[in-house]
Amino acid sequence: MGISSLATKYGFQSFPHYSSGRSGAKVNKIVIHHMAGTNYDIVPSIWQTREASAHYGIGKNGEIRAYVDENNTAWHAGNWNANISSIGIENCNSTGSPSWNVNQATIDSCAKLVADIAKRHGLGKLVVNKNLFPHSYFSSTSCPGVLLGSLQYIADKANAINNGGGSSTPSTPTSDLYRVRKSWADAKSQVGAYKDLNNAKRTADSHSGYKVYDPNGNQVYPTSSSTSNVKTLVVQVNGLNVRNKPSLSGTVVGSYNKGATWTLPKTEKQTIADGWVWARCPIGYCAVGKNTGKTEPDDYILIS
Ligand SMILES: [Zn+2]
Repeated sequence: MGISSLATKYGFQSFPHYSSGRSGAKVNKIVIHHMAGTNYDIVPSIWQTREASAHYGIGKNGEIRAYVDENNTAWHAGNWNANISSIGIENCNSTGSPSWNVNQATIDSCAKLVADIAKRHGLGKLVVNKNLFPHSYFSSTSCPGVLLGSLQYIADKANAINNGGGSSTPSTPTSDLYRVRKSWADAKSQVGAYKDLNNAKRTADSHSGYKVYDPNGNQVYPTSSSTSNVKTLVVQVNGLNVRNKPSLSGTVVGSYNKGATWTLPKTEKQTIADGWVWARCPIGYCAVGKNTGKTEPDDYILIS
């Protein structure tokens, strides 16, 4: 029996959609999900019919429930090789569509559970996309939504717990910060990281040649949009899918949260496909909004 001592059994293996054993594989990774739902109590009963499951689920107050024994294979990653070698953690959302936020208490509890799993399974130091993954790494999905931006925080906090720390963990998700650097790639040049963009701008102003970068590594200050040859795109919603081509048939390769910003040449035309307007972004293409021929209040991206 493999269950974290942090968890309480809830509807434990009361559904058919998991597999006994690990098909000979060893657990070497953890996969993070969000429930895309705010009702913690209906999981895992939804897996009576839906062909899915996960080992753990974390509620809005940070309570941890166990659904599937760690020695069994839960159906969560949408990828069999990933399923047999991973432990899946679902995190309950605090708000519904379109923002699908997750409470800090949930994220902090998730980090504790990740630390516990890593320790018991000998995963070593937690590194994002090495032994701690977003669901979207393995399948075409927007899951884990906003948690995509919290994975580094979860890894850092879990590592601090396993190194005997825990008190020195960052109080703000590091991924939410605006960083002041010479260039995004030159992380060593960083002179500060701020939650407040204005504080970041002030620091950049006092360091010649320094710029402000958003959590996705896009330069947000100084904006080159003041020169007239670029336009600035700002994401208005959380969990906006990034696809590998400008079409609904494109594979989801990532997602942006509200506030993500980048620039494009002013002359670059947006693509229209599947009833949507698409714009290029640093890692693929995003839907700007429905193709109505004009800007709409519910567009996903503001272009100026
Ligand atoms: Zn998922």
